[in-house]
Amino acid sequence: MIGRWSIGDIRVANIVEYFGPTHQPETVFPEFDRAAFSQREDELPPGHWYPHMDRFVIGIQLWVVFAPPNVIVVDTGVGNGKPRSAARMNRLNTLVPAWLEAAGVTPDMVTHVVMTHLHADHVGWNTVLEGDRWVPTFPNARYLMPKRDFEYFRQLSEAGGAAKDPSFTDSVLPIVQAGLADFIDGQAEVADCLRVADAIGHTPGQLNYWIHSQGQSGVFSADIFHHPAQILNPAWNTAFCVLPHEARSTRLRFLDEASRTGALVMPCHFPPPHCGFIRRHGDGFAYEPAT
Ligand SMILES: [Zn+2]
Repeated sequence: MIGRWSIGDIRVANIVEYFGPTHQPETVFPEFDRAAFSQREDELPPGHWYPHMDRFVIGIQLWVVFAPPNVIVVDTGVGNGKPRSAARMNRLNTLVPAWLEAAGVTPDMVTHVVMTHLHADHVGWNTVLEGDRWVPTFPNARYLMPKRDFEYFRQLSEAGGAAKDPSFTDSVLPIVQAGLADFIDGQAEVADCLRVADAIGHTPGQLNYWIHSQGQSGVFSADIFHHPAQILNPAWNTAFCVLPHEARSTRLRFLDEASRTGALVMPCHFPPPHCGFIRRHGDGFAYEPAT
């Protein structure tokens, strides 16, 4: 499934890997507060929350930026055929390559793959299986990854943390070994059009990427939010946030900036339409899905 958007004269597409009513509130948000949520749950757009199942809808998507002469993929989902501990991610066989082609992108056209962070659901399509080896999916691309995340996940992998989910060894290391990796460490801008912003918390090196064009803004917000419920209740971290205190302050700072700039917020995990805007709402914030 593809969505198409524009920020000034830069075109953007999102490629949906999958989405579904999969996440029980307290499991994904350990600080979930039912009383607080019930006061505002009616504000969630249709199809974002199924109370009779007690499940939030959460998805995974890749973003593509068309900024001639560059074709940039932002985050690369779970990938096909990868052994993963979560059943919904294990050895997928999705149509992401066909949808990319439908969006006008063949693997050889991609000039940059830019990662917000190095969790398994953001690096998967970095590689595909060729024989018994994981090889780069986009052979002509430079793959840009946050240096701090690379060091963090490398240490985790070397300490045996990869035994359960070997995403570092099947999706990150093959890129480094192929000589295609560049590390983001202090650059203000990458791929000629993405302004780099620190978004530490969910992981130790998470980054956001802003696009500014013709007076309009958009931002790849990574996993500052997994679901718009966190826009209504910004104190809730996910169970996957590595640095809880920093994740919370990053979220609050981001909400302020995104609401002030009116930027199109393009996260990795929101349900259809998969992106939207953050608006001021009393002392807090509200979510307005893009149309
Ligand atoms: Zn994620």
